[in-house]
Amino acid sequence: MFPMVTGFMNYGQQTVRAARYIGQGFMITLSHTNRLPVTIQYPYEKLITSERFRGRIHFEFDKCIACEVCVRVCPIDLPVVDWRLKTDIKKKQLLNYSIDFGVCIFCGNCVEYCPTNCLSMTEEYELSAYDRHELNYNQIALGRLPMSVIGDYTIQAIGNSTEIKIDKDKSFDSKSITNYEI
Ligand code: SF4
Ligand code: SF4
Repeated sequence: MFPMVTGFMNYGQQTVRAARYIGQGFMITLSHTNRLPVTIQYPYEKLITSERFRGRIHFEFDKCIACEVCVRVCPIDLPVVDWRLKTDIKKKQLLNYSIDFGVCIFCGNCVEYCPTNCLSMTEEYELSAYDRHELNYNQIALGRLPMSVIGDYTIQAIGNSTEIKIDKDKSFDSKSITNYEI
């Protein structure tokens, strides 16, 4: 008789414990119903990069003085500065400028130290190509203005709460930004 009572009590305790665990699981599930998904449906949705994001480098040919500081501060001596000396005015004349993004580590040293600010980091990160030689950008490719995620009406831009606070007052026309307030 006594072992049977103990068995029933154990069974009851286990049932209560199992019910508690199931309840805890449901509570966790319910807590997620109030949250927004964090998955980005790329390429139909794209994240708005942070302000200090280091993407493809933009170059302004007319501002470059061919000083080669960018080459000296680059950890891999990457920028190629092709110039000739104009003896009549004793000045360097820039002929060609290129950066190979297949090798660049996007450290930003060249941008930081350029004395004329002709280099800048952009928010562009879609640099994939079938041939890695296509990643060697000359001054024309480097001079192209970056495509802003907000300016692209074919996709939905996803920003974090900080960026949304900044951009709230702006009109986005047909664009909508999902508010990810965490
Ligand atoms: S540091 Fe700036 S100005 Fe000097 S060569 Fe490089 S890009 Fe041109
Ligand atoms: S970002 Fe860094 S690695 Fe790339 S070119 Fe500039 S200094 Fe060199």
